[in-house]
Amino acid sequence: MLVVMNHKATPEEIEAVVAIIEERGYTARPIPGGDRVSIGILHNKGPVDPSLILGLPGVKEAISITRPYKLVSREFKNEDTIVQVGDVAIGNNHMTIIAGPCAIESETQALTIAKHVKRSGAQLFRGGAFKPRTSPYSFQGLGEKGLKILAKVREETGLPVVTEVMDFETFNIVEEYADIIQIGTRNMQNFSLLKRAGDAKKPIMLKRGMAATIDEWLMAAEYILEGGNPNVILCERGVRTFVNHSRNTLDLSAVPVVRKESHLPIIIDPSHAAGRRDQVIPLSRAAVAVAAHGLMVEVHHEPEKAMSDGAQSLYPHQFEMLCRQVESIFEVFQNGK
Ligand code: PEP
Ligand code: MN
Repeated sequence: MLVVMNHKATPEEIEAVVAIIEERGYTARPIPGGDRVSIGILHNKGPVDPSLILGLPGVKEAISITRPYKLVSREFKNEDTIVQVGDVAIGNNHMTIIAGPCAIESETQALTIAKHVKRSGAQLFRGGAFKPRTSPYSFQGLGEKGLKILAKVREETGLPVVTEVMDFETFNIVEEYADIIQIGTRNMQNFSLLKRAGDAKKPIMLKRGMAATIDEWLMAAEYILEGGNPNVILCERGVRTFVNHSRNTLDLSAVPVVRKESHLPIIIDPSHAAGRRDQVIPLSRAAVAVAAHGLMVEVHHEPEKAMSDGAQSLYPHQFEMLCRQVESIFEVFQNGK
């Protein structure tokens, strides 16, 4: 249930409502944003009796929540969440472009790519230091050395960095270096990792599980908000289907559905969806047309030598073309109303 207070509700009236909710053994969670205070009721086992709340001084209405997820839903918070990372605001109806290699391979590799993508218009740099690989014989990432390279990239280019956390054990160190902590598709329902992410001081990019429904994905995000971290960015990266013309199938319909259901920003990763370079630019154009808040794209200056995901990595000149094309599409849909 969501308790909506009057515009003019006093702090004492708000506190009194919180106290009544908590006396029942529920959790009262004030919801930020908007021109009035709302208080979400969490951890109630069944429906909350509205007569408990209605009629208290300062209370405007009590709305029952119909969705299984609460804090991530528009029913709880109607205004879009904007995740601020340095000077970059994700979710404010601008296109945020994140780009970089699949994995950090060396300082020279990372810096070379970062300079290219920055020049073309990327606002954040991506690169994995801890890599979740299907085979134990594949390159597993540089680990802490990779994180140090990411810090160097940030220092030299000014770009904030996005990198993946794979497990609970390495969470602290990833949190220390990352500007945005990525939770990958294979970990979307790693509940201990999600709970730790709820306690993190940095924003979390939560990728959709490769076989997850949107409800499951939003419930995973709910763990992070429930844990106290409101800064979550959702990332659609394709789901597993029977096709073999691409690595996954990009579910573009996730964008309008998530935007309707949730206030959290949603971005598209066309690279892992396609698995092939030639599909990345067309899918990126489509992502902008369905009003995603951003893109995350893999780019490599020597993709034929890449230690992971070379086949889907764009050459820098292709990334430059992608940025120009999505800019034009953005103009049509956002400014050409
Ligand atoms: C990645 O972005 O590097 C990655 C491993 O993605 P996903 O979890 O979507 O496979
Ligand atoms: Mn990759």
